[in-house]
Amino acid sequence: MRIEIVTIFPGFFAGILENGIVRRAQADGLLTVGIHDLRTFTHDRHRTVDDRPFGGGEGMVLKPGPLAEALASLDLVPKAERQTVEPGKVPLAGTRVILLSAQGKSFTQAVARELATLDRVVLICGRYEGVDERINDLYCDMELSIGDYVLSGGELAAAVILDATMRLIPGVLGNQASGEFESFGVADAEIASDVQGVPRSQHGAGGLLDYPHFTRPAEFAGLRAPEVLMNGDHLQIRRWRREQQLRKTMANRPDLLESAALDEEDRRLLQEIWEGKR
Ligand code: SAM
Repeated sequence: MRIEIVTIFPGFFAGILENGIVRRAQADGLLTVGIHDLRTFTHDRHRTVDDRPFGGGEGMVLKPGPLAEALASLDLVPKAERQTVEPGKVPLAGTRVILLSAQGKSFTQAVARELATLDRVVLICGRYEGVDERINDLYCDMELSIGDYVLSGGELAAAVILDATMRLIPGVLGNQASGEFESFGVADAEIASDVQGVPRSQHGAGGLLDYPHFTRPAEFAGLRAPEVLMNGDHLQIRRWRREQQLRKTMANRPDLLESAALDEEDRRLLQEIWEGKR
């Protein structure tokens, strides 16, 4: 998979690309990241990328010209022209052009799962008051927001989307199942039955939050790790973990319960937790 990032701060991504799973994914040839300096596509002495907003008001707006040139350098034509482009010449199949914006649709694990199936994702980082809307109209397939707050630029959002997406590319995580058996993971029914090496004590999160994790030592600062996790009874462990998932989700993100994949046992547990019986 290829991720292209258009930004006025290319240096921002150095540390992000050189560490951890992102570095390994690139080294293993599973991910290529292209960082494109928007100022390269300016033609004046000051390498101007912004201008005052029409209609007045605070701040500056990223000009459409340099952005259109940056996208053209990635073989991207306006959406309206895409069908007429010679097939095979412009690699648009499996490409998604995304404008990072506080006004966008929410970036979620489900969106990350979808992006991870594409050949190429192009992320446009806004700055100042944002990007001239014509770039959105002409080139962008979607606007994505990483949360209900305003960042000073799209670079952090691009880094978040890059990280959450690339770890779902098949082969990137050591254990393919890790991406499924964690917070916001899919339900058991959607998990490929041939997934190898999955401890069946885990099971798909089905849209719930993850359960709490513990490691050695068994006792720390006077607190003991739950005995159930140390007794080797996988059925008990699985039940305990499921209950913890339900508890955490109910406490921190009750909104997720509405769309979660819950079975009868889950509903009974939830009811008992709600009534204080557990
Ligand atoms: N005037 C814009 C508004 O009120 O929606 C805010 C512009 S913000 C200061 C500058 C840039 O940061 C945006 O163009 C966008 O690329 C990025 N940005 C800010 N908040 C974001 C968010 N929650 N998710 C994704 N990108 C964001």
